[in-house]
Amino acid sequence: MVCPGLIDLHSHLRQPGYEEKETISSGTRAAARGGFTTVCCMPNTNPPLDNQTAVEYIKSTAATEGVIRVLPIGCISKGRKGKELAEMGELAAAGVIAFSDDGEPALNSYIMRQALDYSRAFGLPVTDHCEDTILTEGGQMNEGVVSAKLGLRGIPNAAEDIIVARDLALAQLTGGWIHIAHTTTEGAVELIRRAKEKGIKVTAEVTPHHLTLTEERVIGYDTNAKVNPPLRTERDIEALIQGLNDNTIDIIATDHAPHTEGDKLCEFALAPFGISGLETALGSLMGLVHKKKLSLPTLIAKLTSEPARILGGKGGGVGTLAVGAPADITVFDPDLEWVVDTKDFASKGKNTPLEGEKLKGRVIATIYQGKIVYKDEATKGAK
Ligand SMILES: [Zn+2]
Repeated sequence: MVCPGLIDLHSHLRQPGYEEKETISSGTRAAARGGFTTVCCMPNTNPPLDNQTAVEYIKSTAATEGVIRVLPIGCISKGRKGKELAEMGELAAAGVIAFSDDGEPALNSYIMRQALDYSRAFGLPVTDHCEDTILTEGGQMNEGVVSAKLGLRGIPNAAEDIIVARDLALAQLTGGWIHIAHTTTEGAVELIRRAKEKGIKVTAEVTPHHLTLTEERVIGYDTNAKVNPPLRTERDIEALIQGLNDNTIDIIATDHAPHTEGDKLCEFALAPFGISGLETALGSLMGLVHKKKLSLPTLIAKLTSEPARILGGKGGGVGTLAVGAPADITVFDPDLEWVVDTKDFASKGKNTPLEGEKLKGRVIATIYQGKIVYKDEATKGAK
């Protein structure tokens, strides 16, 4: 299969500040191995991307050390503290493609209202991490039977649904554009569907892990299955897939969140949230195609033309194989089986619950602007 280079609208590249977890160099190499030619990086770095200098740093580092396109996302609020708006005009001028305090919701409704108001002027979305953090305090995993059995504090679906509902109302009020990050609940899908019917400007994403793994992965206290929002239930997965198929959910984005082995080698309650997702995304998503839950054209659209549509002009014509478009191309074998081995990861983050898992569908080559940036050597003559 030959398709446009994949586009990830939600990745954590960790640089500056957390280079032990990932760098722009390792993260973009991981992306290339995963078939991605464009990644949008989240601003929860240290310092956070809440000013022009920080955004310039990402762009120049990506140009010299990265192997694919990196498009930065700027903060909503100064220091991601949710108290005072960042200089959104300055960030827009520096070339951010969205605004987000990802990892933190803007719990202050007035700040979110202002953010939606200002971002409208720049034609950029506000990417919303939907979590009522007062309700989720101390939460470790999805709230339900499994959390009760394991004795872990739960994160109810309602914590997501509440903020999705609030921010859809604020998008309606302001006419601003809300982009719902990592949708995980049946309720959120329904809220987004209704909002779209009403003409509210909303787009939404879902991650590969929330489409393919349930809360049961946490049994055994695997810290690599600890992610926020948490892995939910089969019922939520069915709703998410239906949402993709009826275009309630526009795109698939990885929420690639690398951590060091040390970070995750601890008691479940102390482990940070996050899954390293760039290198397993296509393989795990192809599982949905093989199970006939998604068609191959739908899957490819959700990873290429649809995120390109959200990027608009900022993407520079990516997401298509049209004449004149950047020569960003991914070649993959939809039927090639392989076993996830994190020793092969280019990412510094080996934190995946898929270690040792057999996936069917593998990236063979990734071409960025006409240059081969990844070529699969490992599976020559693979079974
Ligand atoms: Zn988030």
